[in-house]
Amino acid sequence: MGEEHEEHLRIVLQILKEQKLYAKLSKCEFWKEEVKFLGHVVCKGGIAVDPSKVEARLKEKLTSTLVLILPEPREPFEVYCDTSLKGLGCVLMQHRNVVAYALRKLRPHEETDGGVSWDKDGIWGYKGRIYVPNVGNLRQDILKEAHNSGFSIHAGSTKMYYNLKMFWWLGIKGDVATLVSKCLTCQKAKIAHPRPSGMLQPLEISQWKWKGIAMDFVSGLPRTRASFDVDWVIVD
Ligand SMILES: [Zn+2]
Repeated sequence: MGEEHEEHLRIVLQILKEQKLYAKLSKCEFWKEEVKFLGHVVCKGGIAVDPSKVEARLKEKLTSTLVLILPEPREPFEVYCDTSLKGLGCVLMQHRNVVAYALRKLRPHEETDGGVSWDKDGIWGYKGRIYVPNVGNLRQDILKEAHNSGFSIHAGSTKMYYNLKMFWWLGIKGDVATLVSKCLTCQKAKIAHPRPSGMLQPLEISQWKWKGIAMDFVSGLPRTRASFDVDWVIVD
């Protein structure tokens, strides 16, 4: 391994020499087992996140995993959110491995962002739902996962939005609708499998008020702000 390193070093120095590039000796390091670079630690085992750059709460989740993995779109994802009051942090994981993460400090105005607040467990929430900050591809990854997850493949926007009910961000409904409208399979499914409807049954015209009363429940509607999803219909 030492010989190989020596050979690599020789090649790099040769290229620098040929190109007449000079490095400041005091800033150079040789024969290192690991190198810190842009918040990551590069070592022989792979690339790990530099522990000194990570918020304490997330440190364990991140540093117990050595390398970032490529996600398997069909496999379940886990999302971790930063619980400190100082910043936004989210980690997307799959099978205990980090797929993507994003961290940044809160800007002053964000600490009182309309309606979004910290719940008692320290999760950044909005009306009981987990607030997903607009960092990296996190929102898109969550949308894609809801769109393609095993139990609701190409379910259309209402079902997909329902599956996402634990998450919230400003414009989530619109983002869901946009994704579904761009998906050819969702659009085809909507045409190919219309809801079967029975024959309409006309009601007998009554001679007196309240002579005949019918009632029915219409369920499975999209939830209202107060979280109602059933209509009670009474026909006199
Ligand atoms: Zn689809």
